[in-house]
Amino acid sequence: MSTAFISHPDCRRHEMGPGHPECPQRLDAIDDWLIASGLDIALTRHEARNARLSDVELAHTHGYVAEIRDLLERLASTGESRAVDPDTIACPHTWAAALRAAGAAVQATDMVIDGQVENAFCSVRPPGHHATRDQSMGFCFFNNIAIAARHALDVRGLKRVAVVDFDVHHGNGTEDILAGDDRVLMVGIFQDPLYPYSGAVPKGTNMVNVPIPAYTRGNEIREMVEAMWMPALERFKPEMIFISAGFDAHREDDMAQLGLVEADYEWFTQRIKDVADRHAQGRIVSCLEGGYNLGALARSVGVHLRVLAGV
Ligand SMILES: [Zn+2]
Repeated sequence: MSTAFISHPDCRRHEMGPGHPECPQRLDAIDDWLIASGLDIALTRHEARNARLSDVELAHTHGYVAEIRDLLERLASTGESRAVDPDTIACPHTWAAALRAAGAAVQATDMVIDGQVENAFCSVRPPGHHATRDQSMGFCFFNNIAIAARHALDVRGLKRVAVVDFDVHHGNGTEDILAGDDRVLMVGIFQDPLYPYSGAVPKGTNMVNVPIPAYTRGNEIREMVEAMWMPALERFKPEMIFISAGFDAHREDDMAQLGLVEADYEWFTQRIKDVADRHAQGRIVSCLEGGYNLGALARSVGVHLRVLAGV
């Protein structure tokens, strides 16, 4: 059994303008680190397929998908860019990238459920966890992880899946889509207060939200996760685990003020893997979300993948 690493060159072509932190070089930094560290030989590389519109509509409204498709296809043909919110810029290549990012998550889910690989990491952009049912925001267009989770449930027939979100920002989009769906348990940490200024009051009883004050260090965050996430995950016994893997809670990341380091991401991944091994036949699909300090991002993805691959 192995770990799949799924990406696509189209994910690099989506650009939100000079100096934007959610930049193509994020994926290059990850690739370079995997090669330099020798970790790439432990992974099986796959090119992401395109998501179908029916995949995307597992998590988004038909109206939203039609509207964003209209806009992004128009930009692709005119060569223009357009801000869909103050932080989120669509360019001529965004439509292709968004379809590959969501497609990677669905493909990863199928590969893991079919037993082709034990687990999978999608090194994709745009990220997804701020995209709500009917709105793009916070650098996100399609909610890759929610689409994948719904694919596992609605298309592949799983009965219970967990979503784990350790990005420094609250996964408001994923919560918007999955709150109240009792087939899903979502557990998250996020700095509070911080963009998108939500999550302190969960939208559903299937949400375990752990708001964390700025300047909290890794050992305290681990204690909160151990106390709040682990009992809920053990009770829920997920058949598969989906990770919104954002690495912007790293101490070196300027986007926020939390104090995680690589050893903390290693610990997070191991604790999630323990639950997956006990209840879910080891099945994990992880999708890249945030992480904007290129060095810290690459090293953190490295330890995440090292634990997933068991090397
Ligand atoms: Zn983030």
